[in-house]
Amino acid sequence: MGLRTTLFLAAALAGVGVVVATTGMAAAEPGSQITILYDAFGSDAAMKKDWGFSALVEISGKRILFDTGNDPDIFAANVKAKGIDLTSIDFVVLSHRHSDHMAGLNHVLSVNPTVKIYAPKEGFGIYGSSLPSSFYRKDESLPPEMRYYGGKPPEVMKFGTAWQGANIELVDKTTEIAPGITLIALVSDAPGTKELKELSLAVNTADGIVLVVGCAHPGIEKIVEAATAINPKIRLIAGGFHLVVAQDEVIAKAVAALKDTFKVENIAPGHCTGEPTFAALKRAYGDRYLYAGVGTSLPLGPGMGSGARRGEGPALQEDDLATYRKLAHREDPFGILKARNLRSALSHL
Ligand SMILES: [Zn+2]
Ligand SMILES: [Zn+2]
Repeated sequence: MGLRTTLFLAAALAGVGVVVATTGMAAAEPGSQITILYDAFGSDAAMKKDWGFSALVEISGKRILFDTGNDPDIFAANVKAKGIDLTSIDFVVLSHRHSDHMAGLNHVLSVNPTVKIYAPKEGFGIYGSSLPSSFYRKDESLPPEMRYYGGKPPEVMKFGTAWQGANIELVDKTTEIAPGITLIALVSDAPGTKELKELSLAVNTADGIVLVVGCAHPGIEKIVEAATAINPKIRLIAGGFHLVVAQDEVIAKAVAALKDTFKVENIAPGHCTGEPTFAALKRAYGDRYLYAGVGTSLPLGPGMGSGARRGEGPALQEDDLATYRKLAHREDPFGILKARNLRSALSHL
């Protein structure tokens, strides 16, 4: 290969590199931050604690409400306590159909009825769906009164949503909804939540991906793996990792995957991550563990993870633990009591 050709190729490749690096990348300007609006632990006395998740993600000039908590009144109170104006949000992302993530949507709609809402597309789901009428078998020998729609079905059959009239856009597969802002769509394979579809928010910044997860039912490792396809550098993960009933070896494996395999730089776990996982992540990440109790704002500016706010607040406080345990036990939302009973039943054998 001649020198000229080599130089030409090098220049062309460099050009491609620049295009790749600048396309689909959002800015994490100094004002960028994630504010936790709903969770069952926290040290902010102005905020109410309850099982569930919601966060306001302000990044790339967008204000994104990710999930809406478990109880509309508590959600409304926490939004008010933080002085957040829900009429000025750009869009809502509902991670999945579990009520501890979507119960506050009625409050959002009462304030901002036309706001765009992204939700996972599931057959006959609560967010609504549609199917071509060709999906069902026909029998033309039947009289019209025994046939669906008298034998003349509409081309597309629509199935209702719990929020009739809301501006819901269903997301079926991983989609970049704005430059650098991608909704990762994955399906859970875990017993109890099989076929549950969940959306995670991946924002590609100049410093790597900022990833916000709701419950991580498809598996936190699978979600991170999908995010690395956008950009292998993962700057921060916030949200619920769904290890709330996981045994120590499962937790250790997940922590090792995040830290060593995917080299996730900063971690801000909350919600269903689980107390022993909080402890394990705190041990593994040290001051790159960003405390993210309800009411906490995590700055995403260039100094994230290296400034005075790094490791802000204690990983866990005694009253947080008490609340967390009480809530986790009250409704047994993740089969904690069932698992414990099973364990004690087994220990009698
Ligand atoms: Zn949840
Ligand atoms: Zn869930």
